[in-house]
Amino acid sequence: MTEKRADSAKKVGFVSLGCPKALVDSERILTQLRMDGYDVVPSYDDADVVVVNTCGFIDSAKQESLDAIGEAMHENGKVIVTGCMGDDKVIRESYPDVLAVSGPAQYEAVVGAVHEFIPPTQSHDPFVDLVPPQGIKLTPRHYAYLKISEGCNHRCTFCIIPSMRGDLVSRPVGQVLDEAERLVKAGTRELLVISQDTSAYGVDIKYRTGFWQGRPVRSRMLELCQALGELGVWVRLHYVYPYPHVDEVIPLMAEGRILPYLDIPFQHASPRVLKLMKRPAHQEKTLERIKRWRELCPELVIRSTFIVGFPGETEDDFQILLDWLEEAKLDRVGCFQYSPVDGAAANALPDAVPDDVKQDRWERFMAVQQRISAERLQQRIGWEMQVLVDEVREDGSAIARSYADAPEIDGLVHIEATENVQPGDFIDVEIIGADDYDLFAVQLVDA
Ligand code: SF4
Repeated sequence: MTEKRADSAKKVGFVSLGCPKALVDSERILTQLRMDGYDVVPSYDDADVVVVNTCGFIDSAKQESLDAIGEAMHENGKVIVTGCMGDDKVIRESYPDVLAVSGPAQYEAVVGAVHEFIPPTQSHDPFVDLVPPQGIKLTPRHYAYLKISEGCNHRCTFCIIPSMRGDLVSRPVGQVLDEAERLVKAGTRELLVISQDTSAYGVDIKYRTGFWQGRPVRSRMLELCQALGELGVWVRLHYVYPYPHVDEVIPLMAEGRILPYLDIPFQHASPRVLKLMKRPAHQEKTLERIKRWRELCPELVIRSTFIVGFPGETEDDFQILLDWLEEAKLDRVGCFQYSPVDGAAANALPDAVPDDVKQDRWERFMAVQQRISAERLQQRIGWEMQVLVDEVREDGSAIARSYADAPEIDGLVHIEATENVQPGDFIDVEIIGADDYDLFAVQLVDA
C-alpha cells in the first residue's frame, strides 16, 4: 500500500543554500510538503518541480544562488525560488520562466506555489506517511539547529539581513522548547541554538511568560538556557553579543548544564570601527568581560568572526585589533576581508581600504590568530574529554567533536580506533596530539 501510494505521489526536488538559518527554513518547508503528501526526491530527473532556497548574504552567495537556479532550470525547467534573495529582480531578469519567487521564511508561499503548480494527488495519511515527529532534518540525526527567532533589531552598516528578514520576532518559548524536546526524543544529541542575535531573545515580546510542561517560563535567554539544560543533551549557543546579561548564563556553563561555548561575532575591536559598523554592544568592555567569564568558567571556549579592511579602518585601528586578539586569546576565529554588499549602508562610507592593504592585514591577522589557536589546542593534550561521534569508518577510526567544536565551522577530534561506536554516541577519549585546527585522540574504554 505504501509503495503504490509513493508511486502516485507528486515529487519535489529541493536545493538548499546558505546558512543554518536557511537550513531550518528548508527543513520546515520539506516537513510541510511531506505532510501534504509530496515525495521529496534527490534528482532533477524525477522531480515534478524543483524548489531552490537561495542565500543573499553577500554577492558571491547571490551568484551561487543564481547558478543553482540556472542549473535547476536547465535540468528540470519547473522551478520555484524562495529564500534570502527575496523577490530580487535579478532572478526574474535572469530566469523569466521561474514559476514563483518568495522571500525568507515564507513557508506558506512556497508550499502554496508547489500546490498551485503540482496539486497533490493524495492528502496526507498519518498511518501511511510517516513524517518523523521531529520533521525532516537535513543535518545528521544526532545534531539539529534550533531557531529561536527571526529577523534582527540592529542595523550593522555592512549587513542587509534586517532589510531582508525584518525586525526581531521571537518564537514563543513554549514552542521552542516543545520543538527541542521532540528533537531530543527523536535522537538529537546536540542542539545548536541559532538566531541573528541570541542574546536579544524575547526583547520584542517584553520577555513574555510562556508555558512549557505546564509550568511558566519567561522568554529570555537565561530561562531558555535553563530549560534547554534540563533536556540532557549538548546545548550550544551561537550568535551571542557581549551584553551584561550574558554574564547570567556563564554559571550554567560552569555547572555543566549547557556547553561552555560561546559564538560571539565580535567583527572588530577598535571602538572607532565598531561605531562605524554600528555593532551591537560596541561600547562594552569586552576584554574585561571575557576575563570575568573565564574566571567563572575556566573551560569556556569562545569562537568569533572578524572583518578587516572595513571602510575607514586605519593602521592604528588594525593594531588595536591585533593587540586585542593577543589579549583575548580566542579559541576559534574566522576572518573576512571587507567586501561591499549591494544595498548595505557601509557602501556610502568614505575611505575605502585598498585591496592590497586588506590582503596584508588579513594575512597578519591570520598569522597571529593561528598561533593563538594552535597554542590553545596544544594545551588540551593529555586531557580526558567527552566527545560526540559524527562518523565511524570501516577501519574503526572515527571523527568526533568535543564541546569546543561546533559542526561545520570548528575543528574535529580524530580517533584512531573505536570499539562498538556509532555516529551520535558520546564517548570518552584522551587527547594525544594537536595540529593547527584538529585534535587527535584515543578512546578510553572501561577496564
Ligand atoms: S546583528 Fe548586525 S550583522 Fe547580525 S543580523 Fe543584525 S544587523 Fe546583521
